[in-house]
Amino acid sequence: MDIIDESRVVIQSLSPTWVGREDIEVAMLRLDLIHPVVQGNKWYKLRYNIDKALEEGYTRLLTFGGVYSNHLSATAGAAQAYGLPCIGIVRGDEGTITPTMRQCHDMGMELYFISRQDYKRKNDPDFLAGLAEQFDQPYMIPEGGANEAGRLGAERIEWEIPEGYTHVCVSVGTGTTLVGLRNALPLGVRLCGYAPMKQGAYLEHELRPHMRQGKDVSWSITDNWHFGGFGKSTDELLSFMNEFYTINHIPLDIIYTAKMMYGIQQQLREGYFPAGSRILCIHTGGLQGNASASEKLNF
Ligand SMILES: *Cc1c(COP(=O)(O)O)cnc(C)c1O
Repeated sequence: MDIIDESRVVIQSLSPTWVGREDIEVAMLRLDLIHPVVQGNKWYKLRYNIDKALEEGYTRLLTFGGVYSNHLSATAGAAQAYGLPCIGIVRGDEGTITPTMRQCHDMGMELYFISRQDYKRKNDPDFLAGLAEQFDQPYMIPEGGANEAGRLGAERIEWEIPEGYTHVCVSVGTGTTLVGLRNALPLGVRLCGYAPMKQGAYLEHELRPHMRQGKDVSWSITDNWHFGGFGKSTDELLSFMNEFYTINHIPLDIIYTAKMMYGIQQQLREGYFPAGSRILCIHTGGLQGNASASEKLNF
């Protein structure tokens, strides 16, 4: 079994050809290199949850996700690495066997499919109490690792960021990672969030209460580059990913980081980033999600 190893994280400069501006530097923080499955921001959001589960004497994990969820596969992999049984509550029909579901199953996750209707109750205390009883009191992690332990774990991503960057860019799902970074980054760095879904910018209101008071790192979220919505893609996005790989030798994931990097390239062309900017883009992993498009990708 592969070991979860944060020392594999590196910062890789992007090719000036791709950046297209001599007065701006762009680099990528490769959190995708930590582990083949337990990678990216998902590992950071899980680590304190797992510590807590073990300290408090829980014997199994339970979490939530869709049939393509990076969070489910990362949880399955981490649980396997720690020898903890785990249960996945999946939004979807029994028998929707995506590559992600197969991988979760192969790593030992017990999968329970529930209807979209029931899944909407995933944060409802009565519903959770029912699951706790049904599954013998597991340690429960919300969808996407979006809890306090997840936010604190995400703060540790900042430990990997050296001084001197003017902008840090990260893609946004629940926004847990963005909040962790916002709470940990030094003043003066601009934090730019890229939401890969329609209406993602509205997350700002939900996230604000989790921002630590007394410090004002400037941050924003754009949803300009959603390519039709969450999980949707276009041929243009796929060829962008292929070109990005050819020039920079970095595989992007189709759900999150590809849309972010596409947006950043547009912003570079439009003059959004001032001369002298030093931009660090966070590769949040999620490469398992490319399995469903592998025949169209050159990596
Ligand atoms: C889950 C995920 C995100 C979103 O992270 P949040 O903390 O939920 O905002 C970003 N990128 C990748 C690759 C992911 O798998």
